[in-house]
Amino acid sequence: MSARFKPLPDKPDHPALERGILDWWDRERIFDRLRESNRGGPRFSFIDGPITANNPMGVHHAWGRTLKDVFQRYRALRGCDQRYQNGFDCQGLWVEVEVEKSLGLNSKREIEEYGIAEFADRCIERVGKFAEVITDQSRRLGMWMDWDNDYYTFSDTNIEYIWRFLKEVHERGWLYKGHRSTQWCPRCGTSLSQHEQAGEGNYVELEDPSLFVRFPLVDREGEALVVWTTTPWTLPANVAAAVKPDAEYVKLEDGSWVARARYPEERAVEKKLGDELVGWRYEGPFDELAVQQDVEHRVIPWDEVSLDEGTGIVHIAPGAGTEDFELGRIHGLKVIVPINESGQFYPGYGPLEGMPTREAEQPVIERLRADGKLVEAGRITHRYPICWRCRTPLVFRVVDDWFISADEIRQPLLDANATVEWTPDFYGKRMDDWLRNMGDWNISRKRYFGLPLPIYPCVCGRVHVIGSRAELEERATGGLDGLRELHRPWIDDVVIRCDGCGEEVQRIPEVGDAWLDAGIVPLSTLGWQNPEFVEHGYATGAARGLTGADLPDHVYWEEWFPADWISEMREQIRLWFYSISFMAVTLIGRSPYRRVLTYEKLLDENGREMHRSWGNAIDANDAFDRMGADVMRWLFCDVSPSQNLKFGYGPAAEVRRRLLTFWNSVAFFVLYANVEGFAPTYEDLESGPPTATALDSWLVARTNALVREAETAYEGYWSPGLTRAFAEFADDLSNWYIRRSRRRFWGGYDDAAFRTLWYALVQGLRAVAPVMPFLAEHLWRSLVADVSEEAPASVFLAGWPAARPDDGELLAEMDEVRRVVELGHRARAQAGLKLRQPLRRLVAQGVSGAARHADQIRDELRVKEVEFGQVEAADVRVKPNLPVLGPKLGKELGPVRSALAAGEFETLPGGGVRVGEHELRPDEVLVERSSRPGWSIAEMDGLVVAVDTVLDEELEREARVLELIHTVNRLRKELGLALIDRIVLTLPEADRDLLVHDGWIKGETLAERVDAGGGELRIEKA
Ligand SMILES: [Zn+2]
Ligand SMILES: [Zn+2]
Repeated sequence: MSARFKPLPDKPDHPALERGILDWWDRERIFDRLRESNRGGPRFSFIDGPITANNPMGVHHAWGRTLKDVFQRYRALRGCDQRYQNGFDCQGLWVEVEVEKSLGLNSKREIEEYGIAEFADRCIERVGKFAEVITDQSRRLGMWMDWDNDYYTFSDTNIEYIWRFLKEVHERGWLYKGHRSTQWCPRCGTSLSQHEQAGEGNYVELEDPSLFVRFPLVDREGEALVVWTTTPWTLPANVAAAVKPDAEYVKLEDGSWVARARYPEERAVEKKLGDELVGWRYEGPFDELAVQQDVEHRVIPWDEVSLDEGTGIVHIAPGAGTEDFELGRIHGLKVIVPINESGQFYPGYGPLEGMPTREAEQPVIERLRADGKLVEAGRITHRYPICWRCRTPLVFRVVDDWFISADEIRQPLLDANATVEWTPDFYGKRMDDWLRNMGDWNISRKRYFGLPLPIYPCVCGRVHVIGSRAELEERATGGLDGLRELHRPWIDDVVIRCDGCGEEVQRIPEVGDAWLDAGIVPLSTLGWQNPEFVEHGYATGAARGLTGADLPDHVYWEEWFPADWISEMREQIRLWFYSISFMAVTLIGRSPYRRVLTYEKLLDENGREMHRSWGNAIDANDAFDRMGADVMRWLFCDVSPSQNLKFGYGPAAEVRRRLLTFWNSVAFFVLYANVEGFAPTYEDLESGPPTATALDSWLVARTNALVREAETAYEGYWSPGLTRAFAEFADDLSNWYIRRSRRRFWGGYDDAAFRTLWYALVQGLRAVAPVMPFLAEHLWRSLVADVSEEAPASVFLAGWPAARPDDGELLAEMDEVRRVVELGHRARAQAGLKLRQPLRRLVAQGVSGAARHADQIRDELRVKEVEFGQVEAADVRVKPNLPVLGPKLGKELGPVRSALAAGEFETLPGGGVRVGEHELRPDEVLVERSSRPGWSIAEMDGLVVAVDTVLDEELEREARVLELIHTVNRLRKELGLALIDRIVLTLPEADRDLLVHDGWIKGETLAERVDAGGGELRIEKA
């Protein structure tokens, strides 16, 4: 007999199977065909948050990309028309730092020596290279996107859209140049914004000096303020000392002034309130420096002085700290900025000149010691911010940066967020928190390859913001000839004329925050306010040659905006979700997305962060090769998005084991379907298969329940709902339907059994296809497409399985059957009776619908008779279930408890108990029955099952027959006999009495003849 269904190996080789499917998808153009068949269907608009095209993708990227693919695949099965546009983030600090590393450059001076134009070319090359790498990896993951039409955020079109936004912001009066203290990366030579730096990963435990320093008081001989600092390099910029006005300060015996709360044990010789110290003058630690010449060091009041650390007196340097700077503004203090943009001391700082802050620590300490001002020098380990990009510890500098004021947009953003549906829902509150607390948006970076900010401030005071390339060309007085694209250095040569005073004006040298690039995408890629559709019109500037993306027109934008759904990781609340909202609400007045799914962090399998330097990072390519994309996708989908994902080869092995349940069920089906020559009927998938038994009907109902549960999960963007539903289904299918129906699949063809099982397997794989596209496609090919001419070639061309009517009653009945069976197994186990020992009787109490399936209970538990009724026990003890009953009965609990203890109760049908006038439900009491002799009892939630444990000669003989059948079938396998080979069986003489069951034995072992004789069991091929 020739096999109709392709036989399955013992277990799937996921990576090999996946590579085969990828080739087949390509060859057969399955994705293109899917898009063609869905064209004109209901629109589902997904907008992709761009991945930085800067390095190969990591496994954490694969998580997000899987979720994007899963829900797009589901929508495709529902016939939705989709855009499938992938995005690459291409400029800004991300790319610059990596290119610097690859070129061995390590400062802005070195970049300038290398050449800004050459540097830009290297950045563009890097983006092109890694966009390709990421595309290959994404395909390998099974992600279906329109890979030839990606958007690149460094295209001139994208840049122009941002210019337009900035012009609008300027016209509203929100754009301003701020002079303030900001977090500064001395390596990157730029300030960093609040939203870039807010992530937890941008802090590390760092060891720093911990200095207690004496500031001698000018008018109080022999007395001094004692301050504490962990940044010695800021001391040359000290101009004041702050105290908490309402705190108590004391003078210790050595003349030191400190807060009482910090030195509770020390003997005080004088006490004052902080208020009374305000105005005292002191001698600064570096008074001889030129920058210190006109500084009068004073004590100032500050309510925020902490009494939890240090001395309760805080050293203030407005040029080297944010709070210091604000205090300086309030008290009119001098701002001394000690370090340049590389974090080195400016000239005028004596021996410190040119030193980086860390190198200056020791000279500062020595100097203080020499002057007798050092009280104590130690070390401290504390949380310290580092550059989000290059991980260099940050410093504070006072600089000029460009900001967008958040004041007026804050409330509209909160209103817009109120229209968004968040998954999980509490993240919407996180977004609100961010929006309520966000500061002004620092948009300028003192760097090279980034968005050129179109800001042209004239000497006359007028600030021009250019809104498009056309406007630039119109206003330019020169430099247009060399304008290859809108990037530095080319843009820097373009000069415009001031329409106020007529002077020529240059662009500011700064580039933009990368979140402007990604933030404009919902407008720029969809053609907002673009009058005409331009084919390949998005592939401009640096993006030319990298993509074929079109620039659509405004009509298109109206069709596809806002996104029905977006999904990125949780940190994007303060990054991409924030920036797209900021820009769209500013320009359009509404949120650019209706729904959003966000998720937590990916950790290693032990729950630690993954770091290359810790050796626990997993390369995405290794994961593809070793675990396979389907297994990765299952891991990504299985975790609740509000929890961190523990990812690794251990969990992957666990998933592979779990997936085997379904695989084995398919393998079982294929094996016997080929033996029996079963040919499936494709229409069964629409109309449902004919069923012959209650178990068949149950499996059909169970399958439909899976389809509905899957639908709920996909519609709610809740992938763990899907994996859970599928795993339970696979278990029910294997451990109940197949287990109970095994005998129907061989020796006498049973059409209904095959059709029912085929239906369940196929609908099951369709439900899970968006999560595990490769496995599902492979099985669809073997189970359906290869054997049925009407069937679509791909599971993804077959649409979503039709939902069929609910049969909740049957599902509930079978649930009860399975609980009775579970109790039956437990009762057997308590009596030490294994399943191969048939028993006489079982009594089940508290059963309702399960009574209709007595045959299933009888066969599964191998008992001769099943009765439904009262289980008689030797003794019944009932205790109150306190957590439930306590709140219900209140004061009455005491008397009820005593009555139960005294045995003054009546058990009711259904598992309840009557005590006096109270009727207690089964879940309100804990019942313990002790068995009568000859019985074993097990119970749970009102169901009680008792099995008769008395064995007679016949039962014992039957147990020996079952043991024999088991042994023979094991030996058949060991002898390499085929499933259909017939045998001749000779039992040992001692087992001759088993021959009374020879018909049974023949049937179960495919024996043509059974005899007895001799000392041992013999099997021969017939
Ligand atoms: Zn940096
Ligand atoms: Zn002017």
